[in-house]
Amino acid sequence: MIIIMSPSATEEDINTVQEEIAAIGFRPFMNPGVERKVIAVLGELDVRKADLIDQFKAMNGVARVELISDLWKLASRSYHPSGSVVRVGDVEVGADEVVVVAGPCSVESEGQMIRLAHQIKAAGGRMLRGGAFKPRTSPYSFQGLGEEGLRILAKAREETGLPVVTEVMDTHEVDLVCEYADMLQIGTRNMQNYALLKKVGSTGHPVFLKRGLGSRIRDLLMSAEYIISEGNTNVILCERGITTFEDSTRNTTDINAIPVLKHWTHLPVMLDPSHATGHWEYVDSIAGAAVAAGADGVMIEVHNDPARALSDGPQSLTPEKFAVLTQKLKAIARAVDRNINISAQ
Ligand code: PEP
Ligand code: MN
Repeated sequence: MIIIMSPSATEEDINTVQEEIAAIGFRPFMNPGVERKVIAVLGELDVRKADLIDQFKAMNGVARVELISDLWKLASRSYHPSGSVVRVGDVEVGADEVVVVAGPCSVESEGQMIRLAHQIKAAGGRMLRGGAFKPRTSPYSFQGLGEEGLRILAKAREETGLPVVTEVMDTHEVDLVCEYADMLQIGTRNMQNYALLKKVGSTGHPVFLKRGLGSRIRDLLMSAEYIISEGNTNVILCERGITTFEDSTRNTTDINAIPVLKHWTHLPVMLDPSHATGHWEYVDSIAGAAVAAGADGVMIEVHNDPARALSDGPQSLTPEKFAVLTQKLKAIARAVDRNINISAQ
C-alpha cells in the first residue's frame, strides 16, 4: 500500500502518518528520491487492507491511498512511475545515455588493467569492470587477486576518471569492497543470497544486481526489493542469460527481460552479452539487440589477450573489437532516441 500525500501536506502531517504506520505494526518507507511525497507501508496487509485504506485516507494531508498488487513494492513502477536514474561516480544510469561498462572478467595485473582502462575509455566505455573476488565453478580455477585486485581497480579509476564496479561475494567483504569500488556487483550465483542482499542494502553504494542463472524475472525483482527495503534505492538490474536446454551458447539471452523489466520496475536495466552468450563472436549481435530493446546499458568483457585470459577468455573482446562495437552501438542507440557519448573514430 502507498500513501500519496498532497503537495500541501506539512512536515507534521507526514510525520504523523509515518508514526501511525509504525504504531499499527507496519514499516513506513519514504523514498528520498521521489518528487511526490509518497509513503510506502511495508508488511503483510492481509485482510486489514480495506480498513487501513479508510483509516489513512481520513488523515490530514493525505491525497490518495493505493494498493500495489506487485509483490515487489518499492521496485514497482506503480510506486515510482518515472524511471529511476542511478548515479555511479559521475555516470548516470537510466538517463538518455546508454552506458557501456567494460573490462576484463578478472583483474590480472596492474599493467594489464591500466592499459585496458585507457583503451576502454578511448573507445567510449563509461565505467570499468573487473573481478577481484571471483565465483568460479571449480575450486582449482583462478579465484581472483582479492584486495590487491581492488587496489588495482582504484588505480585504474584514478588514471582514467572512470568509476569501477566489482563483485562482492561475502557479507564480510562488503565494507572492504565499498572502500575501493563505486558500485558493488552481486553475481548470478548470489542473487538469492539474502544476507548479502541485506548487507549491500545497508550501504549507500550503488548495486549491480545480476539475474540468477535459474531465476525468473519476478525473483530478480524480489531480490532488488531486499536491497531497497534496507534503504538503498541505487539498484541497477542486469540480464546475463539463463540456463535452458539450449547448449549452443553458454546461457540463453532472455531479451524479453528488458521490455518486461522496463514495464514492471522503475529501476535501470542493463544486459551482459558476454556471459549471456559465452562466445565473443556473438557478443556484438546481442549487445546491439539489448540497446535496440531499450536497455540502459551493457556490460562487456574485454581482454588484451583473450587466449591467455585467466577467466572467460572465449567470451572476451579485444580492445580493437570493442572499439568497433561501441561505434555500432552508438548508431543503434540513436535509432531508439538514446545516445552513447563517443566521438566517431
Ligand atoms: C562476472 O561478471 O564476471 C560474473 C561472474 O558474472 P555472472 O555472475 O553473471 O556469472
Ligand atoms: Mn566473467
